[in-house]
Amino acid sequence: TAPNGDISAGPWVVGTEPAFPPFESQSDSGELEGFDIDLMQAIGEQAGVDVEFESLPFDGLIPALQAGTIEAAISGMTITEERSQTVDFSRPYFRAGLAIAVAADDSETTSLETLEGKTIAVQIGTTGAKMAGTVKDAKVSTFDSAPLALQELSNGNADAVINDAPATLDAIATGNIDGVKVVGELLTEEFYGIAMPKDSPNLEALNTALAELIENGTYNTIYEKWFGA
Ligand code: GLN
Repeated sequence: TAPNGDISAGPWVVGTEPAFPPFESQSDSGELEGFDIDLMQAIGEQAGVDVEFESLPFDGLIPALQAGTIEAAISGMTITEERSQTVDFSRPYFRAGLAIAVAADDSETTSLETLEGKTIAVQIGTTGAKMAGTVKDAKVSTFDSAPLALQELSNGNADAVINDAPATLDAIATGNIDGVKVVGELLTEEFYGIAMPKDSPNLEALNTALAELIENGTYNTIYEKWFGA
């Protein structure tokens, strides 16, 4: 049994969609890396369980939790009311929000309203995709990952991308994407949570470990590593 209770000592199979830097991505040698990966590994250590990652499409994470083939999902996933009907979330661990990205030389698109009738690239199954669906007469093109949606914008095949600000800003800052800028205000305030199957017996151990990491400074160390100046 795990030190933190009478819960199965694991391993916890944790699903993630590893094309969302700096939260999760694959290094050149194929290793998973990122803020979420470090945080989840630290949670496993704190809770006394082994963590095994499984790469899945983003829109396959909740179905996998429901089917019980994974024990948790960490993937920059926003805690939403809709998702909370089918899975349980940990306490929030990161504050994010949606941003609009456009071509660097676009001076017309400055807000959600100015996207009317435009082509918006998004990642399938995300809060950004949902937001794009609310724009009047917009054509929404969906992609399997956020980098692919941003590439479509960079290639000039879309007018905008609606995606999580931290991920879009990272893509611009690292040079992973060219000729793209973020405009306007954040469209939303969103909080990421780690998802678990409904009524998972492991949710309490997960939350306890996460709280301890915030308390003891480990969370901050990981935050600094990925977001520090
Ligand atoms: N935070 C967004 C969502 O939950 C996007 C997550 C992602 O692309 N990994 O829908």
